Amino acid sequence: MTKYIFVTGGVVSSLGKGISAATIGALLQARGYKIKIRKLDPYLNIDPGTMSPYQHGEVYVTDDGAETDLDLGHYERFLGIKLSSKDTISGGKIYWDVLNRERRGDYLGATVQMIPHVTDCIKEYIKSGITDEDFVICEIGGTVGDIEGLIFLEAIRQLANEVGRRNSMFVHLTLIPYIEAAHELKTKPSQQAVKSLLEKGIQADLLLCRSSHPISESDRAKLALFCNLNPKNVIPALDLTSIYKVPMAYAKEQVAERIMEHFGLDEKEIVDLSKWEKIEGYLNAYKKEVTIAVVGKYFEVSDAYKSLNEAIFHAGIANNVKVNVKTIDSQKLEEMNGEDIKEAFKDISGILVPGGFGVRGVLGKMKAIEFARENNVPFFGICLGMQLAVIEFARNVLGIKDAFSTEFDENCKPLICLMETYEKDGKVIQRTKDSDKGGTLRLGAYPCVIEKGSLAYKVYGEDKISERHRHRYELDMSYEKDLVAKGMIISGKSPDKVLPEIVEIKDHKFFIGVQFHPEFQSTPFKPHPVFENFIKASIG
Ligand code: GLN
Repeated sequence: MTKYIFVTGGVVSSLGKGISAATIGALLQARGYKIKIRKLDPYLNIDPGTMSPYQHGEVYVTDDGAETDLDLGHYERFLGIKLSSKDTISGGKIYWDVLNRERRGDYLGATVQMIPHVTDCIKEYIKSGITDEDFVICEIGGTVGDIEGLIFLEAIRQLANEVGRRNSMFVHLTLIPYIEAAHELKTKPSQQAVKSLLEKGIQADLLLCRSSHPISESDRAKLALFCNLNPKNVIPALDLTSIYKVPMAYAKEQVAERIMEHFGLDEKEIVDLSKWEKIEGYLNAYKKEVTIAVVGKYFEVSDAYKSLNEAIFHAGIANNVKVNVKTIDSQKLEEMNGEDIKEAFKDISGILVPGGFGVRGVLGKMKAIEFARENNVPFFGICLGMQLAVIEFARNVLGIKDAFSTEFDENCKPLICLMETYEKDGKVIQRTKDSDKGGTLRLGAYPCVIEKGSLAYKVYGEDKISERHRHRYELDMSYEKDLVAKGMIISGKSPDKVLPEIVEIKDHKFFIGVQFHPEFQSTPFKPHPVFENFIKASIG
């Protein structure tokens, strides 16, 4: 029977519930178990697709085009499995579904209520699509005590009761703050968080205690006493320098052993943690360093470029170097000229322009691209970064001074424009600039065919690839001939050759722009080839 592990968080948010949930999955995978992992986000948005990066960090995109919480990125990277729209369950989606069922008359005249109708719907989503998985790990977003979260806690309480306590487990991640003035760790907030869970009918089975300082045996005993736990199930989860150190740290604290014990499972003979040991090896032993610039605009929020930073890190592993990222605010570049720009990119070995939305900062990004193009500095443009690379080239090499994207100026020479019709899953979809913003981008995995002999072909080592998208605008292919004549080729296209996917400049050390988001498919165990080769070119 499939077993359920529910991961909740207490005291404060941002403790790393996603990493903890993914780590639990990794430790069970190391024992040969098959895992499904899902995120429940109680907020009322249908998905985070329309939320600003300042609100919610990055929007992660799955193969099937779901716009999801960035924790799904951690799950895919840690576990090497592909997730889908079924693995991201928001409050908005649940209520939308319940209300639609009500309109259809599915409730046969009943008064529609939080319990059982909303809770049943949540449980249905949690249980959907489970086949032969040994474990389903469900992370509940937010912090215990959030009003939106109450109904989700009620649903998992019911579900645990239905499948039985031997088939379900509650893991609670909490904070043990260190009070500088008293030189002391404080357990009280965690005691209260566990009590708050208990009020909702949920007894935590395992406590993961985030802390900046080692937790003493007596604090462990105290927490166990107040939280109805065996001291063994109070696990120190100390701050680490890399998220990739968490699996080995949890392994040392015997987290998986406690989980196996809870479910009454015998420890496996083979526990294979070798891939995690290898990453630890790299973290402790890289030899060289290289610094690249990332020119963007959402740097105030550390999570806004999550997968991008991860993919850069993975490329470092592949090249056995430490990659330092210098973030450059594109808006500041807008005001700079010649010497200042040279100064900004001094000591930089490569320039990356990531995706983005809106006009703010685009001229600065184009200045960075111009600098990379003219000075033979390795360049990698992603999505908006690719579109701007083409615009920069059209303006400064082809001499089309008003070339731009209709996203930024409706009266420009439209090199990049809105695709009014596009196809997804065999259906033709229409959109205008006034269409709904939610879920109307070109989203998810699309195939791309690469031209043999190109840089992209050398990088990927194959001519048929699939990459994930999240954008609304596309390069107008009628400019292809002019671009090619001056040395910019479109080396990757959709199989019907209608949509551009990859551009590159031939006479350049490394200059590539991709319309998709390769960062979503990079993992530490399988770094993405474009990132890997961009860093390789930057090392020189
Ligand atoms: N704003 C651009 C578009 O919608 C690029 C999007 C992105 O970089 N993800 O096409």
